[in-house]
Amino acid sequence: MRLVDIGVNLMSRQFEGDRDGVLARARERGVERMIITGTDLVASEAAARAARGRAAGVELWCTAGVHPHHASDFDDATEARLRELHREDQVVAVGECGLDYNRNFSPREAQLAAFEAQLSLAAEAGLPVFLHQRDAHEEFLAVLQNAWPSLPRGAVVHCFTEGPEAAADYLELGCHLGITGWVCDERRGGDLRDAVAEIPADRLLLETDAPYLLPRNLEPRPSSRRNEPMHLTAVLAAVAALRGESPNEVAAAAWAATHAFFGLDPA
Ligand SMILES: [Zn+2]
Repeated sequence: MRLVDIGVNLMSRQFEGDRDGVLARARERGVERMIITGTDLVASEAAARAARGRAAGVELWCTAGVHPHHASDFDDATEARLRELHREDQVVAVGECGLDYNRNFSPREAQLAAFEAQLSLAAEAGLPVFLHQRDAHEEFLAVLQNAWPSLPRGAVVHCFTEGPEAAADYLELGCHLGITGWVCDERRGGDLRDAVAEIPADRLLLETDAPYLLPRNLEPRPSSRRNEPMHLTAVLAAVAALRGESPNEVAAAAWAATHAFFGLDPA
């Protein structure tokens, strides 16, 4: 079974000191490939450097963009540097970008401006978009619908946590959905768990969003709250159970869907 984690914040400070161990443990569980998430300019540049090859037996690519939390830092210089990064081979998507009205670390106007600018960058670069949305579904969907005809390669709503109605909105538009360990949480993941069976197999991508979102159902419970890409197997197991499919089937479909979406060779 071959697994690809489409959302790993590998450049996070939480992984400093044992990145190779994190990669090696993931590789042992079958996670052969990862897309490192670029969350701001510095992290995107670090991700692009890390993704130039293979580390600990894992093949790495990355996204380059600015998370809505950092939207206040998005200026002309950021845009110019991202444009350069988007031309590099190992950079396979623009983002993460979008809207996060849960915590509003950046003002909403700044979030909207940075989001729209990055959608334009995706159109320019001919790349897919790696999207983040929290508590902003209506406005986010409106911006995305408006930009959609100009987006050449579509988009994935990463860490999708909502229910069947929101899923239908994104699927109708043509989006892919990234499913994290949120799906392992029977308490707060109820809406998402209802949606997972309805996602077409060729639109469903798997991710950990590590070091965040440690799956709640791990046995034995890890001593650390830090999530790692090796726990992608827990996400896979939960998704397979909810869809009434085998983990092998879900892994194979997600592998194919991921490579098609990011334009990578599945071999
Ligand atoms: Zn995110």
